[in-house]
Amino acid sequence: EVRVRFAPSPTGFLHLGGLRTALYNYIFAKKYGGTFILRLEDTDQSRLVPGAAESIEDMLEWAGIPPDESPRRGGPVGPYMQSQRLELYNQVAQELVERGHGYYCFCSTQRLELLKREALRAGQTPRYDNRCRHLKAEQVQEKLAQGAPHVIRFRLEAGVKPFQDLIFGLNRHDVAQVEGDPVVMKADGFPTYHLANIVDDHYMNISHVLRGSEWLISTSKHLLMYQALGWKPPTFGHLPLLLNKDGSKLSKRQGDIFIESFLREGVLPEALLDITTNCGSGFTTNRVGRGLEELISEFNPSKITTHSALLDLEKLPEFNRIHLQQRIDDEQKCHMLIKDLQQQIQQLYAADIQDQEVLEEDYIRRVLRLRKGHIASLKELMGPTYSYLWVRPSFSIQQVAALTTEAPLIASFVLRLVEEQGEELSVDRVSKDLKGLTKLTKATKYREVMKLLRLVLSGLQQGPSVAEMMVSLGPAEIRHRFQKLLL
Ligand code: GLU
Repeated sequence: EVRVRFAPSPTGFLHLGGLRTALYNYIFAKKYGGTFILRLEDTDQSRLVPGAAESIEDMLEWAGIPPDESPRRGGPVGPYMQSQRLELYNQVAQELVERGHGYYCFCSTQRLELLKREALRAGQTPRYDNRCRHLKAEQVQEKLAQGAPHVIRFRLEAGVKPFQDLIFGLNRHDVAQVEGDPVVMKADGFPTYHLANIVDDHYMNISHVLRGSEWLISTSKHLLMYQALGWKPPTFGHLPLLLNKDGSKLSKRQGDIFIESFLREGVLPEALLDITTNCGSGFTTNRVGRGLEELISEFNPSKITTHSALLDLEKLPEFNRIHLQQRIDDEQKCHMLIKDLQQQIQQLYAADIQDQEVLEEDYIRRVLRLRKGHIASLKELMGPTYSYLWVRPSFSIQQVAALTTEAPLIASFVLRLVEEQGEELSVDRVSKDLKGLTKLTKATKYREVMKLLRLVLSGLQQGPSVAEMMVSLGPAEIRHRFQKLLL
């Protein structure tokens, strides 16, 4: 049975790197009919960020990759928050001590600091010298009886314990060569990441650990702990790094890669999922526009390479444009977009809306169908370029006069055109019929005529084609906007 987990620490909000790890786990689970678990690793109490735990789960739901078991949803092997499982970690730490794989360490912070400084001065990587390994049983009992502050360390066995990583292949890392015995229980009674992580993977029956490659180096240590406890370890697969396009570390400056900021900017979750996987490996195709279903069916873990994935966020608007287009083409999803827009229009333009028709589903759907493929997000439609869609533009007689002296003539032409085409207005037909204006006006060039039409329709000199503007506004509104030129 496939059981995978995403195990973030709520020491920060979910960002693109985390989302990618969660996504690969989700896809892996769904591909093999397994279970996707969210576990919050909140053992570093000093670094907890208020609200992060809630928000991480919210963001997974928003992204469309909700966990099957989680702090919020519960599940058969809960609780899913490490701070609620302290007793279990303590038991296992005791067991390590009893089996002779763990020991109490009473070294003071000053001593550890000193060791560290000496090592650094000598140009070496600091490591604990394993001094407390050699304490006699009586010494330990005495110190414990005195209530001396202590931690529990794991006795690292020397020698290579090779393992096969699903992605990085054979790994032969001799941890004891480079590290001192790691702490598994801290003085505050909380476990360290290493202990809590393996205890939970074991008791939560995790079959595959798919996590970022920054943890590859810790895996040998974890495997030694599994061995010491007599547990069968899960299969490990480490995902290559996710970096900026130029190979630098993914930036978290100005919150620019936090999932919540993308949400606020109107980025669609499917565009985020698509872009984070498109720059990586593990799929049979790399086309833009893949939804979750396709990601699952096209996923092939043996295709994940060790190459870093280079994320080009400048391409995000393009991904979003394509996914927005797909939503507009899907009746159900389009309906949701319309609901969303209705709210935004009301919020932004409430007082200025003269015609309630702009809030009608049919009207907004027409606008979306005409604009799909052009706009990169719904937010664009709330910008100044598109305000003519929701409120009537204002322009002055002087602006009209600067363009033409034949405004009434042009206006009656447009009104006639609308009369003839009626409700059947189409972009092709309108643009064809507008050509008739070239023969009609004597003192105004076609270019100026078009500028006038734009001005009357939108109050602007840019935006979609005149024909498209007319079709989206519809006959009644066109009449309304042109009638005043007749006077
Ligand atoms: N809590 C670790 C993190 O924040 C989890 C690493 C793992 O998946 O084992 O990345």
